[in-house]
Amino acid sequence: MTALLVGWFGTAAPSRAASKLNIVTATQDLAAITREIGGDHVNVDSIAKGYQDPHFVEPKPSFLLKLMKADLLEVVGLELEIGWLPPLITQSRNAKIQVGANGYLDLSRSCQILEIPQGQITRAMGDVHPLGNPHYWLDPENGRRMAKAIEQKLSEMRPGEAAYFAQQDADFENRLNQAEKRWEAKMAPYRGHKVVTYHRSWPNFCERFGLDVIDYVEPRPGIPPSPSHTLEVINNMKKQNVKLILYEPYFDTRTPNSIAQAVGGEALQLLPSVGGVKEVTTYFELFDYDVNLLSAAFAKYK
Ligand SMILES: [Zn+2]
Repeated sequence: MTALLVGWFGTAAPSRAASKLNIVTATQDLAAITREIGGDHVNVDSIAKGYQDPHFVEPKPSFLLKLMKADLLEVVGLELEIGWLPPLITQSRNAKIQVGANGYLDLSRSCQILEIPQGQITRAMGDVHPLGNPHYWLDPENGRRMAKAIEQKLSEMRPGEAAYFAQQDADFENRLNQAEKRWEAKMAPYRGHKVVTYHRSWPNFCERFGLDVIDYVEPRPGIPPSPSHTLEVINNMKKQNVKLILYEPYFDTRTPNSIAQAVGGEALQLLPSVGGVKEVTTYFELFDYDVNLLSAAFAKYK
């Protein structure tokens, strides 16, 4: 009797839970947008946390377990993850998510990419952005493009659920259009304002909101600050009357703080990613957080 029951249940239609796509993303930003599109039809798990430097993530055995079970792997691309993800993909031995396979989605292919090096690429240009700037998710227009690419991929993998994913994407786009008006209004008074950033994490964000990045705390992307370069930054900021230094949560605060002190300004910790602090769990909350902090800081030094 027991065997019969098991046999009978075994042939029943699979539940929604059993048929959910397992998606692993390299970063929490990708996970946040994927949840918007996939809704309750997908399981989403990200590897790097938003408070970590996405260029340098310590590989853990748990990452491998996630990748072994994944139907789809989403990456930022442009070599952002080159220091930690490729060996994990290989070791997972999961044919579905190998580079070029159907379950491998590189979102940089769908986005507007800035700072693409012209001509010959040399080490002197910096260590970590040889293919163009990989921090492109910090422009809502690219968020819209990423959502569309994810919608297309999910629909291709689950054609029967395409209408659901299309509806989710339309809803996301609607809310993003609304939110953008709010962000633009808050940032509008500060168009043309100048800032210094620690790493080159913000070109898309700054272009979108009309900010001018005049210098970087890092002498080159991925290279830690040096005393001589720091002095140059201070002089540059004084000359151009720039008061704000934006830095990411995973960098040492000493250099940005000492620069801020020297110029009578402020070092402001902005979040480059969802998950940078606990309260920021969605793509919308990320921009709300950064735009609120930044507009308040500009207002102080007006
Ligand atoms: Zn970078």
